[in-house]
Amino acid sequence: MDGARPAEPRVGRIRGALNPAHWTLWRQRGSLIFYCFLVESVALVATVWTAAVVPVHGWDLVVFGVLAALGVLQAELGRQIERVRRLVSDTPHINLTSVWTFAGVLLLPPALVTALIAVLYLHLATRSLARMKRVPPFRTTLNATLVVITCYSAELVLARLGVGDMYAALTAGWRGITAIALAAVTYFLVSAITIVPALTITKRTIKAFFGGLGDNLLEVATLCLGLLTALTLATLPALAVAIVPPLLVLHRAVLIKQLEIAATTDEKTGLFNTTGWHLLASRELARAQRSSRSTFGVLMIDLDYFKLINDQHGHLAGDTVLRAVAATIKSAVRDYDSVGRFGGEEFVVLLPDIGPAAVLAVAERVRSAIESLKVEYEDGSHLRVIDALSASIGVATYPDGGTAVERLLQAADKALYRAKDAGRNQVVDGTATA
Ligand code: GH3
Ligand code: MG
Ligand code: MG
Repeated sequence: MDGARPAEPRVGRIRGALNPAHWTLWRQRGSLIFYCFLVESVALVATVWTAAVVPVHGWDLVVFGVLAALGVLQAELGRQIERVRRLVSDTPHINLTSVWTFAGVLLLPPALVTALIAVLYLHLATRSLARMKRVPPFRTTLNATLVVITCYSAELVLARLGVGDMYAALTAGWRGITAIALAAVTYFLVSAITIVPALTITKRTIKAFFGGLGDNLLEVATLCLGLLTALTLATLPALAVAIVPPLLVLHRAVLIKQLEIAATTDEKTGLFNTTGWHLLASRELARAQRSSRSTFGVLMIDLDYFKLINDQHGHLAGDTVLRAVAATIKSAVRDYDSVGRFGGEEFVVLLPDIGPAAVLAVAERVRSAIESLKVEYEDGSHLRVIDALSASIGVATYPDGGTAVERLLQAADKALYRAKDAGRNQVVDGTATA
C-alpha cells in the first residue's frame, strides 16, 4: 500500500505526457514551439534517411549495447551526487551523457546514435530528472533532439573528411587524428549554438549558459572522455568500463564547485554572502600588505527607510528592490570589485587598487545610481513602480582607515551611521576619523 501512493501522480504525469492536449509545450511562445518542431523534423528525417542508407552490422549492435549499458550505469551511480547538486544549485542537469553520445558518433552508424540518445534520455527522464525536479517532457525531448542534431553534425564532418569512424581513424595517421579532433570541435560548437533559441525556456541568460569557463571545461572534459571511450572500445573493448570511475569523480568535482559557490553566495541577490565577501577581503588585505604602496577601499551601503518600502509595498516587492539594488551596485562598480550582501538591506563593496579620492567618487556614483533607480513590480494585475529610493554610504580606505578587514568595516560602519544622522542619502568618509 505504501508504494501505491507516490505512484499515483507519476502515472498521471505519464498519461499527461501521452495526451497531446495536456502538453506544456503549447504554453510556450510560438517561436519556441516552431523551433521544437523544426529540430524534431530535421532529426527524424536525418535518422530515417541514414537508417535506410547506412548499414548496421552485428558488432555495431554490441557497441551500442555496451555504450547504453555504461551510460545507464554511470547515471545510476551518479544519482546521489546529482541529487545533492540539485539541492545547492539551480543550474540544469549536469549533462555527462556526451561521453557516451560522442563515443557513439565515433563508433556507430548514425541511426544507432539516435537510438543511443533515445535510451539515455528516456532513462534520465524516467529515473533522475522526473524524481528530482519536474522537467516538462517537451524540454527533455528538445534536449535529446538537439543532441541528435549535434551528433549528426559531427558525423557529417567525419564523413566529409573521409574518416568515417574511430576504426578508420586508427589506420589513417594524422588525417584520422585531425578528423576526430574536428568532429569534437564541431560537437562542442553545434551543441552550444543550437541551445540558443531555447534559452528563454529556463529564463537563463546567454552568459549564464556560456559564461562559465568551468562549464565549458566540463564539456571539453566529457568530449575527451568520449574520445577515450571510443578509442578503448575500438581497441580493447573490455576496458571501456574503466571510464565510469573518472566520470563519477568529474561529476563529484562539479558538485564540490557548486557547493563552494552556494556557501559563498547570497541566495536572494546572487551577490557574495558574508563568508564569501570576507574570504575575498582577507585575500585582498594580504595582497595589499605584501606591496607597500597598495591601497583598497570598502563601501558600506544601507538603504534608507527600507522598512517603509516593505510596509507600503509588501515584503515580496521589498525583495525585488533588494535584487534591483544589488544589480545597480554591481553595474556602478568595476568587474573586479566584489559586492556582497551582509543580510537585510546592507551591502558592502570591496574595491581593490583604488585610492581614497577615487573610492569617494565610486561611492557617490553608487549613491546616485540608487537614487535614480526605478523598480517595477507586479501587484496583482497592476505594474507598480518604486522610485523614491536612496542609500547612505560609509567609506573606508586601507591603510589610513584601518589595517585589518574588521577595522575597515568598523570605520565604514561608523561613517554610515554619521551619514544616517546627517539626513541620509549621502556619502561619508570614515577614513579621516578612523
Ligand atoms: P534606515 O534609514 O535607518 O536604515 O531605516 P530602515 O528602515 O532601512 O532600517 P532598519 O534597519 O530599521 O530596517 C531594515 C528593514 O529591512 C527591516 C526588515 O523588515 C527589512 N529587511 C531585512 N531583510 C529583508 C529581506 O530579505 N527582504 C525584505 N523585503 N526586507 C528585509
Ligand atoms: Mg536601512
Ligand atoms: Mg539596515
